[in-house]
Amino acid sequence: MAVTPLDELDSIPTNAPRAAADTAWHAQTPDAVLAALGTVRQGLSTSDAKARRERYGPNLLAQGKADTAWALLWRQVNNPLIWVLLASAALAIVLGKPLDGSVVLGVVVLNTIIGYIQEYRAGQAIQALSAMVPNNAIVLRDGGKHALPAAELVPGDVVMLASGDKVPADLRLLEHKSLRIDEAALTGESVPTEKHIAAVAPDASLGDRLGMAYGGTLVSYGTATGVVVATALQTELGRISSMLDTADELQTPLTRSMASVGKTLTVAILIVAAVMAAIGLLRGYQFIDAALAAITLAVAAIPEGLPAIITIALAIGVRRMARRRAVIRKLPAVETLGSTTVICSDKTGTLTRNEMTVQALWTCHGNIDVSGIGYEPEGTLSPTPTGAASDAVHELLLAGTLCNDATLGKVGEHWKITGDPTEAALVVAGHKLGISETDARRRVARIDAIPFESELQYMATLHRDDRGSVIYLKGAPEVVIGRCGVNPDGSPVTKVLVLEQVDAMASRGMRVLAVAGRRPEASMTAIHEPDAGAGFTLLGLVGMIDPPRGEAIEAVKTCHAAGIIVKMITGDHAGTAQAIGTQLGLLAASDRAVIGSELAAMSDEQLRTAATKANVFARVAPEHKLRLVKALQAEGHIVAMTGDGVNDAPALKQANIGVAMGITGTAVSKEAADIVLTDDNFASIAAAVEEGRRVYDNLIKSLAFVLPTNLGLALILITAVVFFPKIDGMPMLPMEPVQTLWINLVATVALALPLAFEAMEPNVMRRPPRKPGAPVLGRFVLTRTLVAGVLMATGGVGLFLYEYHHETGQGVSHAVALAEAQTMAVTTVILFQIFYLLNCRSLKDSLLKIGLFSNPSVYMGIGALLLLQLVFVYAPFMNGLFGSHALNLDAWTKSVLVAAVILPVIGIEKWHRNRQPSTDDA
Ligand code: ATP
Repeated sequence: MAVTPLDELDSIPTNAPRAAADTAWHAQTPDAVLAALGTVRQGLSTSDAKARRERYGPNLLAQGKADTAWALLWRQVNNPLIWVLLASAALAIVLGKPLDGSVVLGVVVLNTIIGYIQEYRAGQAIQALSAMVPNNAIVLRDGGKHALPAAELVPGDVVMLASGDKVPADLRLLEHKSLRIDEAALTGESVPTEKHIAAVAPDASLGDRLGMAYGGTLVSYGTATGVVVATALQTELGRISSMLDTADELQTPLTRSMASVGKTLTVAILIVAAVMAAIGLLRGYQFIDAALAAITLAVAAIPEGLPAIITIALAIGVRRMARRRAVIRKLPAVETLGSTTVICSDKTGTLTRNEMTVQALWTCHGNIDVSGIGYEPEGTLSPTPTGAASDAVHELLLAGTLCNDATLGKVGEHWKITGDPTEAALVVAGHKLGISETDARRRVARIDAIPFESELQYMATLHRDDRGSVIYLKGAPEVVIGRCGVNPDGSPVTKVLVLEQVDAMASRGMRVLAVAGRRPEASMTAIHEPDAGAGFTLLGLVGMIDPPRGEAIEAVKTCHAAGIIVKMITGDHAGTAQAIGTQLGLLAASDRAVIGSELAAMSDEQLRTAATKANVFARVAPEHKLRLVKALQAEGHIVAMTGDGVNDAPALKQANIGVAMGITGTAVSKEAADIVLTDDNFASIAAAVEEGRRVYDNLIKSLAFVLPTNLGLALILITAVVFFPKIDGMPMLPMEPVQTLWINLVATVALALPLAFEAMEPNVMRRPPRKPGAPVLGRFVLTRTLVAGVLMATGGVGLFLYEYHHETGQGVSHAVALAEAQTMAVTTVILFQIFYLLNCRSLKDSLLKIGLFSNPSVYMGIGALLLLQLVFVYAPFMNGLFGSHALNLDAWTKSVLVAAVILPVIGIEKWHRNRQPSTDDA
């Protein structure tokens, strides 16, 4: 039984004791709860936590498998194709052909085993993915803040929550700031609940226990501190989780459409089999021979292996994508990725490095450049400010350091930051001026704060120094400057002139922050939004660069070559966005970024035009993202959209592929996404698209390989029943029914699966995206099936006839000549499949071009098959079982030559297709 963090909803609790969970924590005051749990507001000590951990165990829910082994097995068998096969086996046995019956049973058993193993492994792979997305909680231990895996939490731990977090265990809230929690996972209530910390009645329902935050629910707004009252199975989620539905995660649009194709095919094949049996009877076949031929046809023509092939191809895709740092949360995304036409990406951290460095300062005394790059706090200011200018810069950076949660520290040789890179850049700039953030924060204590939220675009902090209360405000210039009346020298703020400075910095690709301060008249103990509204002194502007990631520039090029449009959607200033957009190759120099307020004023119609035309969107709020996705979808696009914040969730859900950030993203965004990037890097999206295309290509290859075999075998049988003479009252068949089954049994299995491991088509990212909804069984697969199927049937039948007549002409008895000719026909078909498999390794390119040995699993399959075929031809017991006969070198040579005809034929077909403009289905 695998264990995953509490965030897995599909969990089944075991019968663990739950004494503590029955306490009505919500009815007690925070202090009473702390006392009852033997803890304090500063949290536990590490040693106490360790002891408790031993007593309570990890904060994990034991995860029940989505399916029991029997359910999984039943799913393999509960399939119309399999019922037909089982009925055929029973019929053959009843009709006195136990051998044929058992071979059919063998086909069924083998298929079931393969399907079972593959589905089991795919399920495991998908379950393992949830563990790849880290699930940390901020915990107070030994009086300090630590980010620990949520599994480490114990009752008594004090945990800090911020908007976007998933609550890691059941908490009694100790204090909070505008806390709103989405409890839909627990209560079904979709509107977030506003929390407070007062105790409520002991019999209050879950939704009314306002002083509690329950594990598995999501913080949609605000911040809080709470003490853990229950972990793992004692949490409310742990208690109800057995009632939660488990989603059928292995179903995708593709598997569903293949299942329906499979059903139609089965019916069609049954009809053809019945007609063939009727013809056989009319031609004077005995009932049993006609019935057996019909059964054989059904078994040979039904592509039983397909469901397993599709599942394994998807599972391999999932694993590969995870290795390339894109963790799939919802399986259908693997397919959808391949047809993505637009990727809408955030800027900061995804397209850029998220390593901010202050490069320019502005105060009312003029501009100053800051040298140095990265987080090394060595650097200089030029021109070196003196006098009033020096004081102004000092005050600007002191405010920037105080209105700030980031810290800078040395790890070994290098400086490392913790916290938001934008804020860290300010701390580093402060260091360059001799301001140590620890000293400053000790001297000027922080009383309260309004944390930065993208919607607010600012952060404000309340401090007390030796002169009394002071409020610092920093944020987007458009927001901050309007709240400022004067400069530090007492002159009034000229908004137009300051905005000119902002534009000048932004056009150099810098993110610009304005910093302001205010001394309230009365001493304050808490800060609320209106307190940050007006009456500020503008301390200055800070411009910082965050260069584009080198890989992102490359990945944008790759996407463009692959016919995918890349759009940048950022909360940053238009000028900054435009400069970075140009560096990334998203914008021509003459193009302009569209800003959020313009989007807001547009009608849906106008928005559709703007969304299609523009590639850079600035000062965009999360709700604009949702409208943009919808507009692009209305234009027929398949949209991948990134997001990291709480409010990005609707857009992530609406997008065809929602992409969340594994490192900086909130739990809420990850929950809503189809894919989580473990490195937050745009290049990983491009890699996932590439893998998605490869999965699809390999599926097409598998189909193009499997279906001709089914058709070829069916044609061989039909030709014989309809046209071949009867000899001594017995039908003359180029292959005995059991031999047909042999081919079906061994060849499809040994050969088709390796195709799922096939490497990328060389042109995979140099062709347009696949049209969504393009049928899997498109023109290419159908033509291929017809050409290769007919060729295979012709080769097999032709060689059979040649050999039979040649041998009987030499005086060999009918029985021996028949056995030899049949064995040759079987061998030819098997060799044909081997050659054809090599052809199928690439959709358009020759074997030599893709590298003869680039996929070793193909040769393992071929080796296994050849070995089995040698046993079939030469082992006496197989001769008895299957009516086969040893072949001489001459016969092998002929078989090889005839089978090899497929190579030039498909070669010509590929050459012809390569000259056509590229089509959707290959
Ligand atoms: P993207 O959407 O490309 O990732 P972003 O998410 O970084 O951009 P936001 O974080 O929403 O954009 O930032 C919007 C604006 O808010 C920034 O341009 C900046 O002016 C301001 N800002 C960003 N971080 C902070 C912060 N920590 N404190 C105050 N203001 C900030």
